[in-house]
Amino acid sequence: MTCMNDPFPGPRPREVRPGEHPAWDEALALVNRDLAALLPGRGPLRLLAVPSDADVEWEPPEHVYVALPDGRWHGNHLDHASQTDPADALASVADAAQDTVLECLWQVWPVCVEHRLGMHPGQDDDRVVWECAGGREPQDPAHVRTIGELG
Ligand SMILES: [Zn+2]
Repeated sequence: MTCMNDPFPGPRPREVRPGEHPAWDEALALVNRDLAALLPGRGPLRLLAVPSDADVEWEPPEHVYVALPDGRWHGNHLDHASQTDPADALASVADAAQDTVLECLWQVWPVCVEHRLGMHPGQDDDRVVWECAGGREPQDPAHVRTIGELG
């Protein structure tokens, strides 16, 4: 699947209003700080809602995606259940944001300044962090950076 371009072929996406999904809003604010720090001028990312398949009754009525300012996105929608836990929400939003930036902007992001390697959302104790695979032996703890504090 490639980056979703305008005109969107299915139902029209709509802008998610602030406060509709507070856990995702908070997570996206952190992720947007890191985007602004490393790829200035490309964000902020925003949440778009697209009606889901109405025939499938176990689906929520809408799926929410992390999109660029121009409305393009790539990859999976946010996991609806992730909203109940701040760490899950952050992991889901960071993952979706990374997909959109990679496929729509052709940018590896975020890149670790120390090791020049792409970082990915990971778990560090009970926190969700950016995890880097650089400069460590298998027995060493992962090199991690706090999401929202890359600047
Ligand atoms: Zn690193």
